[in-house]
Amino acid sequence: MNKKIILVDIDGVLADFEMGFIKAWGKKFPTHPKVPLEGRKAFRLAESYPNGLEKEIQSILSAPGFFENLNTIPGGKEALKKMQDLGHEVLICTSPISNYKNCVPEKYRWVAINLGFEWTKRIIMIKDKTLVFGDILIDDKPEHTGLREPVWKHVLFEAPYNQHVKTKLRITWDNWERILE
Ligand SMILES: [Mg+2]
Repeated sequence: MNKKIILVDIDGVLADFEMGFIKAWGKKFPTHPKVPLEGRKAFRLAESYPNGLEKEIQSILSAPGFFENLNTIPGGKEALKKMQDLGHEVLICTSPISNYKNCVPEKYRWVAINLGFEWTKRIIMIKDKTLVFGDILIDDKPEHTGLREPVWKHVLFEAPYNQHVKTKLRITWDNWERILE
């Protein structure tokens, strides 16, 4: 079997960003409108919420502890281990938010806590994933654009906000092994 370089996103793939946001939003802004996960039609939070809430949304994402305390998406850790056991090189490829102060170290801590310290050595943190070399990128974001035509094949991790994309292979952690076919 061909040894592949598999890049795996964190938010919405390994970490439950959406539920983390919904919980923090309800707690901090109990009277603001709520958008349930099924109602998330756009990848960017601000496009799913009523206009004028961008600052409030950013305040949740920038708050200390937001990224570090996200729950895991079940099956992710086991899938990474299985990929390695099959001989593939697995790297974590994640984009920090622009307000990086808490996000960047907390993403490292999240990986150490939830996947194990060894995985922190496999983190690639970059805004433009098209610049990263690899065979497969597992990511919930519908499209990646950047400075280059990506060399990896984008495999979509299922999410309500990427259902409009019909041309890409879609997976969950229950059926991810189809990426190897
Ligand atoms: Mg993501």
